[in-house]
Amino acid sequence: MLGLYLHIPFCEKKCIYCDFYSLETTTLIEDFVETLLVEIDIRAALLPQSKLHFDTLFLGGGTPSLLSAQQLERIITRLQKHFTFSSDAEWTMECNPGTVTRESLRQYKALGINRLSFGVQSFFEEDLQFLSRIHSKDEAVNAIQMSRDAGFENVNLDLMFALPNQSLAHWQKNLETAVSLETDHISAYSLIFEPGTPLNAMLQRGEVRAQDEERDVEMYAWGIDFLAARGYEQYEVSNFAKNGKMCRHNSIYWQGDEYVSFGPSAHGYISSEFSPGEQDYMRYWNVRSLQRYTAMVRSGVLPLTNSELLSEKERMFERAFLELRARGIRKHEFKQDFGIDVDIALQALIAEFTKDGLLRDTRERLMLSPRGYAVCDAITLEAITLLERYCGIAWKQLSVDDETILEEQELV
Ligand code: SF4
Repeated sequence: MLGLYLHIPFCEKKCIYCDFYSLETTTLIEDFVETLLVEIDIRAALLPQSKLHFDTLFLGGGTPSLLSAQQLERIITRLQKHFTFSSDAEWTMECNPGTVTRESLRQYKALGINRLSFGVQSFFEEDLQFLSRIHSKDEAVNAIQMSRDAGFENVNLDLMFALPNQSLAHWQKNLETAVSLETDHISAYSLIFEPGTPLNAMLQRGEVRAQDEERDVEMYAWGIDFLAARGYEQYEVSNFAKNGKMCRHNSIYWQGDEYVSFGPSAHGYISSEFSPGEQDYMRYWNVRSLQRYTAMVRSGVLPLTNSELLSEKERMFERAFLELRARGIRKHEFKQDFGIDVDIALQALIAEFTKDGLLRDTRERLMLSPRGYAVCDAITLEAITLLERYCGIAWKQLSVDDETILEEQELV
């Protein structure tokens, strides 16, 4: 599978916990769209023939729903000029419930978007205000209902747990509300205090307290059981889908498949003959600054801040890490791609954690059980340690260089 990601770097208001690259303005959107069209032209001309057909399209951000239907249409038309999509391609668009209307949702549908992902986070007004979300509980509920009316049959809700002062009862109510709205997919994330965010500064100043770990685990475990009982299948640490409606685009990331990305701060992962005669895998990062992105693209160059070729071993570690946190390591593919027999390399892990009911070991996959997801960090760490020992090398986790982590100051 091959995915296509577009990063739309604008938000009406920045949420206090968010470290995604986005600017609190709408006045630069039109200019950005023009630049994005040029980036699509530049990158399309450089991609090999085998990377011009996609199975998924994901508009993320930021807040893609701040773009007008006309702007979205121009972007999609430009994509279709260069690329083709599978007839059943999944086209997801992230939306803020405070930015959609009946009309805009109908327009998204007409453009070919067939999956919506709403950042709701909570159905309690005090949580929404604390997180500085721009929408109310009612707007979130209406957005879901309007999506159904507009004909969307695949809708995701993002919810957050372990907010400071959040009770287990409130978390339970949030999940019950999401389920009562018959959403097809729920992403349930524990609140993270990301460095550099206002929320983290509040934590440092002692203005908020993180939930204790025990409560965090209790909320997560309750969610897993509750959603399983309501027919939602967990297929990644934080993701649950009903009726097989797993997010195909995110599954591309979690299976180590390839994706091409556009927009400031976006990163992609593609294979090609970057070195003569060899099939290489490359990860690239676009600059995390709209100003530099615009300047580079307008002068006809790719807006890259960094790129690197991955060795086979690096890809192998990464695949094991990602797949174990999702639907499990696919043993046959792992052996085929890296020549490593999972049953042998991870023998000790399998013995230890299947006994405790934290891992499930089938002929096809080695996967976490619902209880295993709750301790997945410990299990994946152990798996990587065993693989390192088996291969005789240490895994250097890939990371964006410092330049891209530090968001540049921009006047907007
Ligand atoms: S709306 Fe989404 S992308 Fe924008 S600041 Fe909030 S969480 Fe981040």
